[in-house]
Amino acid sequence: MELLQDIMAALAPVGLNLIGTTPRADYEALVPSQYHITQWFPEAESVVVIGNGGREFWGHFREYAAARPGYLQQHDHPLDDYTVAVMSARLTPLLDATRAQYRVIYPFQFFSGLTVSFMHLAQAAGLSRPSILGVQLHPRYGPWIAWRAAVLIDRALPALPAPAQDCEPCSTCVERPCIAACPAQAVSAAHGWDLPACTQYRLRAPTDCAERCHARYTCVYGREHRYPEDELAYHQRLSLAAARAYCEKPESAN
Ligand code: SF4
Ligand code: SF4
Repeated sequence: MELLQDIMAALAPVGLNLIGTTPRADYEALVPSQYHITQWFPEAESVVVIGNGGREFWGHFREYAAARPGYLQQHDHPLDDYTVAVMSARLTPLLDATRAQYRVIYPFQFFSGLTVSFMHLAQAAGLSRPSILGVQLHPRYGPWIAWRAAVLIDRALPALPAPAQDCEPCSTCVERPCIAACPAQAVSAAHGWDLPACTQYRLRAPTDCAERCHARYTCVYGREHRYPEDELAYHQRLSLAAARAYCEKPESAN
């Protein structure tokens, strides 16, 4: 438990305020075998899932970038690079001191032959639940959460509080304003989030959802923790660019 307390104490000051643990086997029970950790890091017994809820992490990133003139222009994915810098500075010394075998992974990095579902890691750790928006929800922060990293470690770690364990947000939501808020009718109670419909709409009408996802913005959970305007636009811009790049790839490469 001491290691987990040290991790939480090191990361909370930069807004990484969602920390949970799961036995590797519990995560693997949720996903098909191609997402299993065992195939590329069989020593892992536990996973520490690390994320942010609300706007604090972005505020620290903004300060970090402001103190480094040109940082935003020099990095294609400045928030991701900031995340790696934070982990290296705050987490690596703690993990090295344990003398454990470990590996830090990120949802935005691709490793050859490595696939892992951060959504299922977070779900196994009891930090979030699926929603009809295609993103996961936290009981307090709603859809205003993001998984930034995970530590795979050869130690059996104790469970941390799992606030989302018994939460079923969408099936108990009466208003469901997210459905009407989507101009592409890409969100439905029966089928959830229609990614192709969302993508096609955004490519046809790139300004409509440029500033925010209207469906996510109206979710009844966590409204007071909504990301600030510049963060909303940042994520929308990157997701649209990724969708455009994917659609423009030759079919054989998709
Ligand atoms: S508004 Fe209700 S139905 Fe829509 S994502 Fe939020 S909890 Fe789910
Ligand atoms: S980005 Fe726009 S089209 Fe896509 S789900 Fe959100 S509101 Fe709908």
